[in-house]
Amino acid sequence: MPIDVKDLSFSYGKGKAATSVLKDVSFSIDKGESVGIVGKVGCGKTTLIKHLNGLLMPDSGSVTVDGMPSSRKDICKKVGILFQHPSRQLFCTTVREDIAYGPKNFGIHGDELIKCVRESVKEVGLAEGIPDRSPFSLSGGEMRLVALAGVLSSSPDYLVLDEPTSGISKSGKSNLFRILRDLKDGGIGVVLVSHQIEDVLDLVDRLICLENGEIAFEGTPSEYLRSVPSPVPQITELMRGLKLSGIDVRDDVFSVDDAFAEIHAAWSKTTGNI
Ligand code: ADP
Repeated sequence: MPIDVKDLSFSYGKGKAATSVLKDVSFSIDKGESVGIVGKVGCGKTTLIKHLNGLLMPDSGSVTVDGMPSSRKDICKKVGILFQHPSRQLFCTTVREDIAYGPKNFGIHGDELIKCVRESVKEVGLAEGIPDRSPFSLSGGEMRLVALAGVLSSSPDYLVLDEPTSGISKSGKSNLFRILRDLKDGGIGVVLVSHQIEDVLDLVDRLICLENGEIAFEGTPSEYLRSVPSPVPQITELMRGLKLSGIDVRDDVFSVDDAFAEIHAAWSKTTGNI
């Protein structure tokens, strides 16, 4: 069963001071799929994901996770959220204690706890020695991996990452996406939230675009690129430009590798070179 969001509406504040942020939002997310939630800063993405693990409750509508209402306390065991600033999710003296914090709170102790921590450390590929260090002695990329391990140690069925690529290097992003791909292949539902569509396209099966708290588009990345004029990644804009100039290339690609293959094929056709 999936995460099911039905007709969710939410405002901050009450009465005349209420600011409506989410309006009749409905969608679902299955285990083993990856979904991007994208939209401009301030459109309601963070507010929306806080409803997925019970940090916020809808004013109207409902959120259920595998049939459980989001008001249940143990919902946060099913849906792990990694917020934008990992340092704010870390607070223990050592990385190991930080990773153990979640499962310990859910009543896991002794050998089972040690196993949970060991597996999470392995899943995110933390280098030897890091578990015994202070989380605050680490680089931004390492802190994000530790925060991710801290969420994974509670064995969530769904993982939500808010602006996961902010402040990390290109190689850090590749490493993180490789881990997320493995988690998705292992059956976890992965949700990536970003204000920049190109940050998530590499990984997601489906996109949900929010505009002023409403869903403006839902579909595959290819459907998005074929039907939505903007915003699109720069590489897609380049391909659209080439196509408009009469060069026979697909204009729904967004990765450098796919763009290269398209341009190479078009060039080979023109020159007869393979
Ligand atoms: P996004 O994640 O897309 O940038 P947010 O969900 O953070 O958007 O914010 C949506 C709107 O809700 C913004 O106008 C923001 O100022 C407002 N908002 C966010 N958090 C609060 C809060 N705790 N109290 C009042 N307004 C808030």
